[in-house]
Amino acid sequence: MQATIILGAGKERSPMNHHPWIFASAVVGYEGKITSGSTVTVKSDSGRFIGRAAYSPMSQIRARIWSWDESEPIDHAFFKRKIAIALAHRKKWVVQTSAIRLIFGEADGLPGLIVDQYNQTLVCQFLSAGVEFWKEAIVQILEDQSACHCIYERSDAAVREREGLSLASGVLKGELSDTELTVQENQIQYLIDPTKGHKTGFYIDQRDNRLEVAKLSSGLRVLNMFCYTGGFSLAALQGGAREVISVDSSGDALAIASRQLTLNHIDPSKAKWVDEDAFDLLKKYREGGEQFDMIILDPPKFAPSAQHLLRAKKAYKEINRSAMQMLRPNGLLLTFSCSGAMDLELFDQTVFLAAQEAATHQKDPKLGFRVLKRLTSGLDHPKLSSFPEGNYLKGLMLERI
Ligand code: SAH
Repeated sequence: MQATIILGAGKERSPMNHHPWIFASAVVGYEGKITSGSTVTVKSDSGRFIGRAAYSPMSQIRARIWSWDESEPIDHAFFKRKIAIALAHRKKWVVQTSAIRLIFGEADGLPGLIVDQYNQTLVCQFLSAGVEFWKEAIVQILEDQSACHCIYERSDAAVREREGLSLASGVLKGELSDTELTVQENQIQYLIDPTKGHKTGFYIDQRDNRLEVAKLSSGLRVLNMFCYTGGFSLAALQGGAREVISVDSSGDALAIASRQLTLNHIDPSKAKWVDEDAFDLLKKYREGGEQFDMIILDPPKFAPSAQHLLRAKKAYKEINRSAMQMLRPNGLLLTFSCSGAMDLELFDQTVFLAAQEAATHQKDPKLGFRVLKRLTSGLDHPKLSSFPEGNYLKGLMLERI
């Protein structure tokens, strides 16, 4: 008999609307033997079937729903089906790249599972007790369905600890040919270290926005803040930027960034790499009267959870205001937040407040901005309409008028 968890009165509303997370505070009863990651039946207080879920005893997200269909068992065949669907969709949607997100957790019906493909290597993150429980089966299915030479694990993200899981990384199948892979995206070659790079090695989610930058940067002086390994910098240079200044506080990331210039036959004199704190540098540049035609702000997650929002909002506002003050008329600002805890409305509000403050600080009644475009992650990062938390990457393209 499958174990059951019972929700408090009214707590079935959110999961019935296909939000896949059951919070600990919503659970009032447990029946049967429940172990970490095993499948439980979720019932309402009146005994109604809500779904089948993976149980996470340590996490505030106590269970994640696999299926809302009472006739669907959670077994090897379930994962085979889900993975096949995810892979087929990527094949249909995503072209022009050898760096693709094959599986994006909740959006692919597999909460906690991330699988990225770099050429013939898969890099996986098992970030919930449920996918950890099914790891062996998942790896086997990925090997069968993807025809990749190597499956590498990067389950070294801090969220694993909240699930009571230890950090893990290393080869799961095959052999990693090199710790530095060269991938191609829209005619640009990028260097990726799947063993030590951020996330699984690269910010695949910014692909469409890199293309946007490439299209718009001809002849421009560009500032790329929080550049990491220079994804946007390379795009701007390839798009014909006159000069690109890229800033990050990680010397290791900058070293990789600069090596990609030769790989892409880009004149190194157009690129300047600055190893400095972004907040200090923005202040210094602004006070020094620097001006740019395009500024990209893609900072780290300032709000890892809701309790950090207030401080995060201040930080987002500060960098946006500084950037806005350095834009030439008709200059473009591409600004992002990857904090899942910050929703679209708060992001807009923060950026628009920064615009107001920029005008006040500059004492320039003409200084204004207009939104040209909303920016988000690509088609390989779909977003469930029932799960706003999955829409973590928010961005705006603004023009100074
Ligand atoms: N824009 C990048 C991803 C940015 S990730 C891309 O498209 O690939 C965030 C980056 O911010 C990391 O590389 C990190 O080293 C850097 N960072 C974090 N805090 C910083 C700070 N205070 N000053 C400068 N860089 C910082």
